[in-house]
Amino acid sequence: MKTAIITGGAKGIGKSIVESLAKSNLNVVFSYNTSEKEAFELKNTLCSQGFSVYCIKADVTVRNDVKNLVNYTLNTFGNIDILINNAGISQTKLFQDITDSDWHSMLNTNLTSAFYTSQEVVSTMINNKSGCIINISSIWGITGAACETHYSVSKAGLDALTKSLAKELGPSNIRVNSIAPGYIQTDMNKNYSTSEINNIKNEIPLERLGNPIDVARCVAWLIEDEYTTGQVISINGGWII
Ligand code: NAD
Repeated sequence: MKTAIITGGAKGIGKSIVESLAKSNLNVVFSYNTSEKEAFELKNTLCSQGFSVYCIKADVTVRNDVKNLVNYTLNTFGNIDILINNAGISQTKLFQDITDSDWHSMLNTNLTSAFYTSQEVVSTMINNKSGCIINISSIWGITGAACETHYSVSKAGLDALTKSLAKELGPSNIRVNSIAPGYIQTDMNKNYSTSEINNIKNEIPLERLGNPIDVARCVAWLIEDEYTTGQVISINGGWII
């Protein structure tokens, strides 16, 4: 049975990935930071259905928390096959209003976290001569976004991490890919007004917003696949082509 780590798995896209991978009979360890109640509800629901799911608190911006997450997984299951870097934050601000603290918090949460997690799991994957790392990025990393400069930069950096690691770790049969979602209905977008949401929907050829499961399906496919690496796959209903 393969073992997967998912960061930020208590809600939103991460929760859907946890559910999907658990139901595909993988061992799942997911981390949460502040959403303890949601994390244990999810874990307990899936365990009561007979699936193999554990959760642990880990702030992904803290190296020691990430080490604990990885060691906990190794102690529980003895191996790590899959890493999904999903935890992330967003913020909408004029460029001139972004503070040093906003900038560092964004980069630490969305990018440095993936440096920590990837570094902590690669020795196991290299020993296995097998592994799959998936970074949940964003279309804004591809196109850039007004009033989300720090977010866009963090996701573009994540995509560069994806491509660089794919090249370096390919000979060890470790595949590294980004998924760059468009608009997915989660708490991250809860501040959009109805008219803003309708305007976005009108720009999407498939005429609907994305759901977390749309991203989780791509994750499941990338895990099964054997020949895709270094790619940024955008799940966006055709919003950007
Ligand atoms: P969400 O706010 O529902 O979930 C984000 C998760 O990350 C939460 O569980 C949160 O606790 C966790 N997290 C945040 N900071 C953390 C930290 N320091 N340590 C550990 N966990 C932390 O939002 P979501 O939409 O599910 O976002 C998941 C990922 O998808 C993010 O990386 C986000 O940038 C990306 N994404 C989302 C959308 C969208 O439209 N929702 C679009 C593109 C990309």
